[in-house]
Amino acid sequence: MSTFYVIGTPIGNLEDITLRALRILKEVDLILCEDTRVTAKLLKHYGVSTPKESYHEHSKSAKIERIIELVREGKNIALVSDAGTPGISDPGSFLVAKIREACKDEVTIVSVPGPSALTAFLSISGAPTNDFTFLGFLPHKKGRETLFKEMDESSRATVFYESPHRILKTLESLVKMVNKKRVVVGRELTKMYEEIVSGTPSDVLQYFKSQKEKVRGEFVVLVFPSS
Ligand code: SAM
Repeated sequence: MSTFYVIGTPIGNLEDITLRALRILKEVDLILCEDTRVTAKLLKHYGVSTPKESYHEHSKSAKIERIIELVREGKNIALVSDAGTPGISDPGSFLVAKIREACKDEVTIVSVPGPSALTAFLSISGAPTNDFTFLGFLPHKKGRETLFKEMDESSRATVFYESPHRILKTLESLVKMVNKKRVVVGRELTKMYEEIVSGTPSDVLQYFKSQKEKVRGEFVVLVFPSS
């Protein structure tokens, strides 16, 4: 019987990893990494020398077959992404589904919870978060405008991930389509330049436009619900 662990890893601060995650990363036969070079830094920091292989969104079906084979041989395997929780806007869900389908009685699939930019941000956003809508990354074109309309009308908080290349464009869209609501932007959470900026979309856009050096790093955005 094999165990397949889905493990949350830090979103910036290397100390944000559980004792259980570290123990399991040391004990498993293989660690599947979104990018082995990124995970190598974490593993080196904690003296983990377990063999690594890549598994990412472009991995071919032959790779999945090989992983399934290893599971059938009884190997214990861990899956990590570059940062945060696998499967949350990251590779993982498809592989988990395939393993569950192909190896029903031969595997236990176990979560080893850890950080996610989504929950880290929600916990300090100040927004009501008993229920919320998570959109992952917004589409660049098709359906984008409809999503802004929905955010404007929604009685739930809406949260999404954004890249530094698109944050200004997205804030401009929020100014146009959602300007009466309050927004919160989380940048570089858990890292040296962590910050939270909130206000109307115009306030937040102005803040980043006037400090271009802050338009870098990683962003999460929340639009408040209608009151
Ligand atoms: N699976 C990851 C998780 O659970 O957090 C998310 C992966 S997704 C490919 C990467 C996006 O998450 C980034 O573009 C950014 O929007 C957000 N993100 C990741 N780390 C972050 C951080 N430290 N601060 C703010 N946002 C972050």
